[in-house]
Amino acid sequence: MTAHTSTKRSVLISGASVAGPALAYWLHRSGAFEVTVVEKAAALRDGGYPIDIRGTAVEAVRRAGLLPRLREAHLDARRATFLDAGGEVIASVPAGALAGGAEGQDLEVRRGDLAALLYGSVRDDVEFLFGDCVDTFEEHADGVDVTFRSGLRRTYDLVVGADGMHSATRAALFGPEERYHRYLGYCFALFTVPNTLGLDRELLMWNTPGRAAALYATGDPEEVHAFLTFHRPEAPGGTLRDPGAGVDLVASAFADAGWEVPAMLEALRKAADPFLDTAGQIRLPRWSRGRVALVGDAAYAPSFLTGQGTSLALVGAYMLAHSLLTHPGHAEALAAYDRDLRAFVALNQGLVDEGGARLFPVTAEALERRNTMLRGLSALPAAPPRPAHTALVLP
Ligand SMILES: Cc1cc2nc3c(=O)[nH]c(=O)nc-3n(C[C@H](O)[C@H](O)[C@H](O)COP(=O)(O)OP(=O)(O)OC[C@H]3O[C@@H](n4cnc5c(N)ncnc54)[C@H](O)[C@@H]3O)c2cc1C
Repeated sequence: MTAHTSTKRSVLISGASVAGPALAYWLHRSGAFEVTVVEKAAALRDGGYPIDIRGTAVEAVRRAGLLPRLREAHLDARRATFLDAGGEVIASVPAGALAGGAEGQDLEVRRGDLAALLYGSVRDDVEFLFGDCVDTFEEHADGVDVTFRSGLRRTYDLVVGADGMHSATRAALFGPEERYHRYLGYCFALFTVPNTLGLDRELLMWNTPGRAAALYATGDPEEVHAFLTFHRPEAPGGTLRDPGAGVDLVASAFADAGWEVPAMLEALRKAADPFLDTAGQIRLPRWSRGRVALVGDAAYAPSFLTGQGTSLALVGAYMLAHSLLTHPGHAEALAAYDRDLRAFVALNQGLVDEGGARLFPVTAEALERRNTMLRGLSALPAAPPRPAHTALVLP
C-alpha cells in the first residue's frame, strides 16, 4: 500500500484484539498515519477459542508478513468425533471435512496467539493505551475531539471503532445495539476445563436436538476448550451479560444432559472469565459517519455460526486502510471502504442462511439428517473451500 498524501494524519483506534491492531499495522506501515490504539482491558487479552483464518484473510496476513508464524501456531486438529445423547460415537471425521476450509492453506489458531502476533507487529511503532477507553467524542470541521475515561483529551483526524460485537463506538454513532443486532436463535458459553479425557488436537461434540456440548483440545495436555450452545427462539435480552444469571441460563438448558456435560457445568460455575453471548450478527446500512468508522465485529459481526468473524476483521482492516490511503479525503475513503467490502461481508453473513447452523440442528429429524451426512463424510476427502471465503481479491 502506498500513501496518497505526505502529511501524517492522526487516527485513534478503539479496541486491541484483531481488527484494531491489524488496522494499526497497515496504517503505520504506510507512513501516512500517526496511530493511537486504546483498549479498555488492562493488557492484551490472551486465551480464547480457536479461530479460523480463511481465503482472502490468509492473503491479508501473508501481506503483513505474519504467515510463517501463523503457520507455526496453526492448531492442525486431526479429527472431529460426534457423540449421541448417551456419549456413544456417531461418526469420527477428518477435521478439515467439516470446516469448508481449504486444507493446507487455511489456518486455525488460538485467538490470543493471533492478537499477540498482530500486537507484536506494531507495539514498538504505535501508541497503545491500555486500561482506558473513549468516554465521549465530538466531531467538528477539522477533526474529532475525544475525551478518554482517564481524563485525557485529544483531537484526531479520524476515529475507528474496532471494539467488537458490543461496540460503544457504534452505539455512540448509530444508537442502541438492538437496532442492528440480528439474533440467530442460539446462546453459547466458552470456557476452559481440565483435560481429564487426555484429548490431543481433536474435537468431541455431543448433541441432542437444539443442544451441543463440545470439548476442543488444542495440544495443551492440561486444559481443553469447552463450548456449550443451545437453541432458544427468543433472545435472552441482557441475561448473558450478567455472569451469574448467564451461567444459570446455560445450566438450566443443560440440566438433564448426559456425557461430560455435568462436569462441564461444574467447571463453568467455577470459571474465572467465561465468554457468554448469543449467536448474532451486526447488520448496519453504513459503517461510518463523518470522521468516525467501524471495523471488524463492531461493524459486521457474522456470528460464530459462520466461523468467519476473524477473517472479516482481518480483511476489513486491510480494506479500510487501503481506502484511507488511496483517497484524498476521509469521506471518499470511507465510502470506498463500504462499497468495496459490502458484497464480501454479505456473502459471509449469508453463510448462516445456507445452513451455517447445520452442526447444531434443532429438531430430532434434522439431527438425524446431520448424522447421516457425517457418517458419509468419514469416507470423503476434505470439502472444497466455500466461495464466500475467497470472493474478494485484495487490491
Ligand atoms: C477475549 C475474547 C475472546 C473471544 N473468544 C472467541 C471465541 O472463542 N470464539 C469466537 O468465535 N470468537 C471469539 N471472540 C470474538 C472473535 O475474536 C471476533 O469475531 C473477531 O476476533 C473479531 O475481532 P474484532 O477485533 O473485531 O473484535 P473483538 O475480538 O471482539 O475485540 C474487540 C476489542 O475491543 C475491546 N473493547 C471493547 N469495548 C471497548 C471500549 N469501549 N474501549 C476500548 N476497547 C474496547 C475489547 O476488550 C477487545 O479487545 C473473542 C473475543 C474476545 C475479546
